[in-house]
Amino acid sequence: MHRAGLARRWLVLAVLVAGGVTAICAAAPPQTSSSSDRPPGSVYTGPAFRFNKVAEGVYHAVGTGALAVFCNASIIVNENEAIVIDTHTTPAGAWALREELKAITPKPVRYVINTHWHFDHSHGNQIYGPNVDIIGSAFTRQMIAGGHSMKGRGIERFIGSIPSQIDQLEARLAASTDPAERAKLQAALDVQKNHLEATKAVVPTPPNVTLTDQLVLHRGAREIRLMFLGRGHTGGDVVVYLPEERLVMTGDLLVEGTSYMGDAYAADWIETLDRLKALEFDRVLPGHGSVLEGKARIDHWQAYLRDFWTEVQALHRAKVPADEAAKRIDMRAHAHNYPAITAPGVIPDNVHRAYELMDGKAQ
Ligand SMILES: [Zn+2]
Repeated sequence: MHRAGLARRWLVLAVLVAGGVTAICAAAPPQTSSSSDRPPGSVYTGPAFRFNKVAEGVYHAVGTGALAVFCNASIIVNENEAIVIDTHTTPAGAWALREELKAITPKPVRYVINTHWHFDHSHGNQIYGPNVDIIGSAFTRQMIAGGHSMKGRGIERFIGSIPSQIDQLEARLAASTDPAERAKLQAALDVQKNHLEATKAVVPTPPNVTLTDQLVLHRGAREIRLMFLGRGHTGGDVVVYLPEERLVMTGDLLVEGTSYMGDAYAADWIETLDRLKALEFDRVLPGHGSVLEGKARIDHWQAYLRDFWTEVQALHRAKVPADEAAKRIDMRAHAHNYPAITAPGVIPDNVHRAYELMDGKAQ
């Protein structure tokens, strides 16, 4: 089970996984982590994460800014082990989380879950050794194994731009005479340089346990459901649902702000969110931003997606080039839900992706 891709229906999976996991339980290996396996770019001061307790044994780990980690992780501590959901942009970020987690629990990390294939949720996978299973959708495995997390517009935008961000910070530092401002700029520069160093050490590592529909882990008294609810932020987003605790971890399928749409299936996403809404939960632990109460955020994001999709379809029909369309699309009607929207325009990646979908060229 642990090395083979699983591609079966829920009932079969639930039985197989429950049985298999029970068998491993007694043989959980000790966690290996010492300063000798400290990855490049992991030099930082102060904690890199805040562990916000959400329920007994469940934490939302949010970056402090001391290290560039991009996404949040979620942690589930069970009877015999811990589960980490998402591994950040680099082995350095994942290493820092695992080190700092020792203050929360002495239990070893036994499972890692990738909510999706994006670099900022999976590029720390490599720090986990062969005794840790990495679980994700079959699509996530396919994309990471195929090298897609290392290329494309997302990583170009967020990682490819680090050298120019460093140049800009250095220029501002050289021009600044105010000691307080200089200290801030220097700290930001250190974080960026550290991050650049850390990104060079990435070896994309795909999940070794996969699901296509649903997979259930029974760990002690806890039930942990991994569910693919349909295409959305990517073609293979997995949500992690704890029915007893009434919590759901959504990766980037639902975040606090507006989610990146450069690899998305915008129209499908609206329907996938209906299936998310049908689950019984009280709180969402998103891949970016703070814990969300209730389901209102789902409505907000569905409304945004509907308007975006309507606008982008009209511009495509009118043969407006994608970059020009990105300037014209006006989402300010959603600013009351997303205060970061202050002007017309969306990021071009989102429109290029939508055009590819309409042209039948999307991956
Ligand atoms: Zn993402």
